Amino acid sequence: MTFADLGLHPQLLKAVTEQGYITPTLIQAKAIPAILQGRDIQAGAHTGSGKTAAFALPILQQSLTVTPTPRSPHALILVPTRELAAQVGEAFRSLALSITQPIKVVVASGGVSINPQMLAMRGSIHIVVATPGRLLDLVEHNAVLLSAVTTLVLDEADRMLDLGFSDEISRILTLLPNQRQTLLFSATFPDTIQALITAWLKQPVIIQLKDNSELKPDITQRAVCVDKEKRTSLLRHFLVTEQWSRVLVFVATKYATEHIADKLRRYQIKATALHGELSQGARTQALAEFKTGHLQILVATDLAGRGIDIEQLPVVVNYDLPRSTDDYTHRIGRTARAGAKGLVVNFISRDNEAHFRLIEKRQHIRLDREQIVGFEPSSVDEPMTIRAGGIKGKRKSKKDKLREAAATKSNQSSASDSQAKPSKVGFVWPTTFNQSTNTTK
Ligand code: AMP
Repeated sequence: MTFADLGLHPQLLKAVTEQGYITPTLIQAKAIPAILQGRDIQAGAHTGSGKTAAFALPILQQSLTVTPTPRSPHALILVPTRELAAQVGEAFRSLALSITQPIKVVVASGGVSINPQMLAMRGSIHIVVATPGRLLDLVEHNAVLLSAVTTLVLDEADRMLDLGFSDEISRILTLLPNQRQTLLFSATFPDTIQALITAWLKQPVIIQLKDNSELKPDITQRAVCVDKEKRTSLLRHFLVTEQWSRVLVFVATKYATEHIADKLRRYQIKATALHGELSQGARTQALAEFKTGHLQILVATDLAGRGIDIEQLPVVVNYDLPRSTDDYTHRIGRTARAGAKGLVVNFISRDNEAHFRLIEKRQHIRLDREQIVGFEPSSVDEPMTIRAGGIKGKRKSKKDKLREAAATKSNQSSASDSQAKPSKVGFVWPTTFNQSTNTTK
């Protein structure tokens, strides 16, 4: 199968050649002909599968036949984050470079002044790539009209709903003409997405690549047991022993991104934080420096990590585990893009072992637990309590340990029942690690 077999216009064939794409990816091979025929699409494609070009190429082909008008795009692409908006806009623009007539693509997302975006809409435009909230702001300012939209793309639809854009998407959908083509791309299909599909897509062509093992990105996943307070040292250890050139480290909070990046910088490691409360300028700069290799480590929250397309990102570290299995899928999808190999290392501590088991169950994986020499987790025999609403580790304080030692002493000297039974029933921090002395698996 070649791009020429897909029904693409010669100008777009030139565009793919200039991008260096030789053969279409599976999502492209399946989606492009259907989109060119005007069909709705429901595609379950992981990030890195080439999905952006799968919708960008046929949309640009439509642009060739459209007479652009001010404020009225013929195609609207909704995305969850500013970063993805910038990335998708860039993908359209670079493909459009090979087209002889000018194609105007406007990117509209929050976090930056709305004025330049309003100005950009004033000229004749073809395509708008936007986050839902900012698009509605522009509609309210009468800066953009959605009545001429013939193709709508919902990119990373699951994430848009996760981020609470459900109401905004519903409002936008009511502003669009009924006669239109809707293309929905999503890594996962929870019930909320199914409802969206039933309500808004017309007899979509269903493309599901997920179960095709050929398409699964080549990702090695590891689970390394380590005490929470030793995670940064272990990360530094891996940087040296495994020579990780570029690492995306996921943490749970904005504070943690800053704190860990700070700690790493103290060891002359080029690291920076990426989270949703940074200015757009700072986020763009951090990403650019990471992509060019000026930064070795980007410490990010899920929000900031979403949709980032970094070619050659060999390693993702889950310093904190993601809250949901879907987030796990998205995080690991940052590596092994476009056919490259990737490594995901999960830091497992007493507190999150049970949570990780749940992730493993939902992902249908079971990883060996590793421990690294010099970073072995403490007190492997200590049971954890199970409490209502979750499983939490209970670490002994220094005082507790001193009291226990004193009690043991007096027991040994007096009582005969020194075989104390564990007082807590529940999950036991694994004692059967891979006892390898290697630092690598
Ligand atoms: P996406 O899934 O759209 O984020 O694309 C992931 C990466 O794959 C991007 O860096 C694209 O430039 C690249 N890509 C898209 N289509 C192809 C193709 N047919 N051949 C090689 N690389 C591609």
